[in-house]
Amino acid sequence: MPTYGRQPVTFERGEGAWLWDSNGKRYLDALAGIAVCNLGHAHPAIHQAISQQSQKIIHTSNLYGVALQEELANKLCELSGMENVFFCNSGTEANEAAIKIARKYGHSKGIACPIIISMDKSFHGRTLGALSATGNSKVKQGFAPLLDGFVQVPYNDVEAVQSAIAAHKDSVVAILVEPIQGEGGVNIPAHDYLNEIRQLCDAHDLLMMVDEIQTGIGRTGRFLAYQHNDILPDVCTLAKALGNGVPIGACMAHGKAAQILTAGNHGSTFGGNPLACSAALAVIDTLRSTDLISSAEAKGQAVCAGIAKLTTGNPHIVSMRHKGLMIGIEWDAPCGELVGKALEKGLLINVTADNTIRLLPPLLIDAEQIALLTETLSTLIQEHFH
Ligand code: PLP
Repeated sequence: MPTYGRQPVTFERGEGAWLWDSNGKRYLDALAGIAVCNLGHAHPAIHQAISQQSQKIIHTSNLYGVALQEELANKLCELSGMENVFFCNSGTEANEAAIKIARKYGHSKGIACPIIISMDKSFHGRTLGALSATGNSKVKQGFAPLLDGFVQVPYNDVEAVQSAIAAHKDSVVAILVEPIQGEGGVNIPAHDYLNEIRQLCDAHDLLMMVDEIQTGIGRTGRFLAYQHNDILPDVCTLAKALGNGVPIGACMAHGKAAQILTAGNHGSTFGGNPLACSAALAVIDTLRSTDLISSAEAKGQAVCAGIAKLTTGNPHIVSMRHKGLMIGIEWDAPCGELVGKALEKGLLINVTADNTIRLLPPLLIDAEQIALLTETLSTLIQEHFH
């Protein structure tokens, strides 16, 4: 179905941050499959894990014990501070699990029509629950009726959250928030934003649910972006880079949120199967045995400093924002055409929220590749916006 506006290129193979198309042309990948291939392409540890696992067992179903799923859950809990995990296959499904936890939590407190507060400009996925939570009317258009039970408030505005809690006092059960909005334009909130949301959740007995699908797995310089703050959410969703391209999603829970879903409440045929878990375990082991996460901030700074230097005085840059290797360069006008122009120059980038260049390179991007990225992109910027 024509659900995607595709670029006229097909990639045949990759290695690290490089990709080659079907004509043998080489590209630098500064998007990593939209924050998926954090370990780059054809990483030997992933290759080895899934090829070895496929020789043993790929799938049995969740009717039986799955040893690798338990091992992965334990490692994720150790790294995140969470308590248990439900596995699925994508980000939107991870958020569906979170939404079901919030609703059942509400019912356990006698709330018949539970409300989840989410944010304007947020993106949580395309299935109807996650879409209803999403704060972007463009992606929701044409799919009414969406689900009841969601209220959106401006991002990075704690007072707006307070007002929504007051306005729907007896019904609010949870707050769903991205630590940094990805699709919404790489919007980085004030440092205390998540702390204040945590406090509000504690004060009003709400679940704090953090969508780390784009920000997680080392992208921002911590394993999870909420770890820049000294907090623990009640629910945290993951997908994208968890399997470095092998589809796997996870909904992690802590404390009271961890005991809500019981046998028969939720499920997934493929969720957490041995093949997907072997990939995710290889991702975690690789991140733990390298400095890829701790070096993300310096690399992100190098990218931004390089572009700032080479575009000095360009009046069209509204702001350049980054945390680790999650980078947004906002323009004073729509700049979608840059994606195709960059591709012609052998560079993969993305534009989100119409006017923000988004860079999400693999965490293993090296200094030479960073120099190539900044030079190519800056040249493009100077050619098109002067
Ligand atoms: N949540 C966030 C923050 C995302 O960025 C995305 C995808 O871009 C999703 C959820 C949906 O993930 P998926 O496409 O795997 O369903």
